[in-house]
This record gives sequence, structure tokens and C-alpha cells, in this order.
Amino acid sequence: MTQFPAKVPIPVGSGDSAEFWSWLRSGELRLQRCDACKVVRHPPQPTCASCGSTERTWVRASGRGEVWSSTTIFPPVLPEFADAAPYQALVVHLEEGVFMVTQPAPGLELTIGEAVEVVVHVVNDDVALPLVRRSPTAAS
Ligand SMILES: [Zn+2]
Repeated sequence: MTQFPAKVPIPVGSGDSAEFWSWLRSGELRLQRCDACKVVRHPPQPTCASCGSTERTWVRASGRGEVWSSTTIFPPVLPEFADAAPYQALVVHLEEGVFMVTQPAPGLELTIGEAVEVVVHVVNDDVALPLVRRSPTAAS
């Protein structure tokens, strides 16, 4: 499978998500944690879905998780993704209790139930992506 050809659109953060992408550019996976009820949430949003508080702190995530679901995207796809397809898309359940849509690090194919860890994949000076690889501490 091919990963990230140059013409694939890259994420542009806005509002709360801009800070998520900014942390990734600095090499850290951070998640929002509600200051009132301490629930961690993802994707980033301005209010807590549990208690409604707008107070939150960006906490460093462990990056550890498990592949929750997996699918392979085949053509036809949008023209920007034509060189990438087929590619694998994953939902990873992070140990902080949130789900994150992601992809395997280049050259990997992962299966449901595998222990994984997030690696910050630098695309260019403006964008870094939270991809996953097999956890080095997982029994195999
Ligand atoms: Zn809350």
C-alpha cells in the first residue's frame, strides 16, 4: 500500500483542532481533558460533552492503544487519493478512552486487536500526522 503521496490533501486545523495539530507539529500527541469532570475527549471541541464545561487542558497522551476497526479504501476515490489507494484506514482506541481515526505508519498493515502506539509522522514543516505502529512492548 502507498502512503501519503505529495498531492494528498493535508489537514488544516481550525478552532480547537488547530491546537491539536500544533502539538503534533511539536512532536507531541495531546488530548483535551475537561478541567471540571476530568473526562478526556477527542476530536477536540470547545465544550465537554459530559458536563458542558468550556474549561479544558491539553494533556500529553500516552499514545498507546489498540486497533479497534480497520478498513481498506479501494478505488474509485477522489482524484487526490488515486495514487494512495488502496490504503488502510483505522480507528484506534487510545488508553485514555477516546477513539482516533488514523492510518498505519508507512509500510505497515495492522489488524484489529493489535496493540499500537502513535508515532508523529512529519509530512512537511507545516503538518505532522498521528500515525500508528505496532507497540514494541506488545507480545507477538
Ligand atoms: Zn466535563
